[in-house]
Amino acid sequence: MRRLRNAKIVATLGPASSTPEQIDALFDAGADVFRLNFSHGTHEDHHQRLETIRAIERERGRPIGVLLDLQGPKLRIGTFADGPVQLGAQASFRLDLDHTTPGSVTRVSLPHPEIFAALHEGAELLLDDGKIRLRVDRCGTDFAQTTVIDGGMLSDRKGVNVPGVVLPMSAMTEKDRRDLDFGLTLGVDWIALSFVQRAEDIEEIKAIVDGRAGIVAKLEKPAAIQSLDAIVAAADAVMVARGDLGVEMPAELVPSLQKQIVRACRKAGKPVIVATQMLESMIAAPVPTRAEASDVATAIYDGADAVMLSAESASGRYPVEAVAMMNRIVTRTESDPLYHDAIQASHTPPRAEAADAIGYAMRHVAALLKVPATVAYTSSGYSALRMARERPEVPILGMTPRVATARRLALVWGVHAVLCHEVVDVLEMTELASRTVRKEGFGECGQPIVISAGLPFAVAGTTNLLRIAQVQ
Ligand code: PGA
Ligand code: MN
Repeated sequence: MRRLRNAKIVATLGPASSTPEQIDALFDAGADVFRLNFSHGTHEDHHQRLETIRAIERERGRPIGVLLDLQGPKLRIGTFADGPVQLGAQASFRLDLDHTTPGSVTRVSLPHPEIFAALHEGAELLLDDGKIRLRVDRCGTDFAQTTVIDGGMLSDRKGVNVPGVVLPMSAMTEKDRRDLDFGLTLGVDWIALSFVQRAEDIEEIKAIVDGRAGIVAKLEKPAAIQSLDAIVAAADAVMVARGDLGVEMPAELVPSLQKQIVRACRKAGKPVIVATQMLESMIAAPVPTRAEASDVATAIYDGADAVMLSAESASGRYPVEAVAMMNRIVTRTESDPLYHDAIQASHTPPRAEAADAIGYAMRHVAALLKVPATVAYTSSGYSALRMARERPEVPILGMTPRVATARRLALVWGVHAVLCHEVVDVLEMTELASRTVRKEGFGECGQPIVISAGLPFAVAGTTNLLRIAQVQ
C-alpha cells in the first residue's frame, strides 16, 4: 500500500473517530499520522485509540505515526455566579486571584499568578479566542483593573491570551507532565508542546523524553516567532498552530507567518505541519469551501511536510470525507507542473556535511538516471530527513530496522517508511533495497535505483555511502 503524494495528512481523533471501523476508514482515506489531543478525553480514551492504531498497523503492514498533543498552559478565567455576563465596550472589568468568589459583570477570577507578574499598564488581554479584548489600566501582583475595548458575552472558564507578554512559566503544566508520562509508557512517536515561548521550553521537555519520541514545537505565540530559528533548531518538528496564533496575532499576519515558519523549517530540514481550520466548514458539511481547498493547496505549494485536520476529523459530521478531500487536494496540487517550480524556487542550499552532500547527490542522480525511487537505509531517520529536505522529484523509501524510526517518518515529506531487518553488508542492503522497491510497488526489474546508507551499519548518524544499483 502506497500513497501517491509527498505531503502527509495528520488527522485528530476524537468522539467522531474512535471506533476501530472509524479509524480504519480514516487510514484508508489517507491519514498518515493520528493526533491524540490531550486537551480532551481521558487517558483511557487515548489508550484505546492507540491500541486500535497499532492493530491497524499490524494488519496493514504499514507504519503509522501517533502524535500526542499536550494541552500546555492554556490560561482560563474562573466561573460566574449567575451564568454568562455581557461586557459592554468602555466598561471597567477586574481580574484577580480570588478564586473563591464567583465572578460578576464587574470582575472574575484569573487563577494564574504568572500573568499578573508579567502584566503591565497598556497590555492587552484577549478572552474567548480573542472575541473580547481588555486593556490593562492598573495592575499588581494579584489583580488587573481593565477597560473593555471589544465587548461581548463572557462565560465560565473561557480561554485567556496575553499576546504581547512573555510569561514567566514553563510550557508544561502538572497535567502535561502526567499526560507526558502516560504517553511515553504508551509509546507515542511524536509529542507536541503547546504555547512554546522559547527554545528552553523545548530543551526542558527533551530532557524528560530523552529520545523516546520526537518533539513538535507548536508555534502559536508572538514570543515564539521572535525566537523562531532557535526553536526550530531545538525541536524535531514544528506545527504552525494557526488557531491560537491567529488569536495572539492579527489574522492578517497569519499567512505571512505561515510562509516564514514553513521556510525556516525547510531550511533547517525539520518537518513542518500546517494546522487548524484547514477544512473547517467540513465539520458540518460534506464539502469544503473553495477558500479552504485553496488553503490546503497553499500549504502544499509552500512545501509543508504535513497538513492537519482538527475538529473536522475529531468531532465533525464528516471525518472520513474530510480526510478523503484533503487527500484529493494534496494529490491534485502535487500533480501541477507549477508545484515543482514552486518547491524548487523555495529550496535553499544544503549544509556542508556528509548527510546533506549525499541527499543533494541523490536528488541529482535520481533526476539524471530517471530512477523510480531513492532509498535511504537509515537507523535514526536522519539521512531520510536530509534527503526529504532536498524535496526530490521521486519518492524516498525510508528503510529502517527500527520501528520507532519508521513511525516517526510517517510525518515526513516524500518518505515511504518500510520496516526491515538489520543488514550486515552492502550486498545484503542492495538486495533488500531492490526487493523492497519492487514489493512496495515503486519500481520494476532492470530499473536503476539509488541507495544511501552509513557504514558501519550498526552506528547511527554515519551517512557516508551512495550506491547506484539495478532493481533485481
Ligand atoms: P490546538 O492547537 O488545537 O491544540 O489549540 C492548534 C492551534 O492552536 O492552531
Ligand atoms: Mn493551540
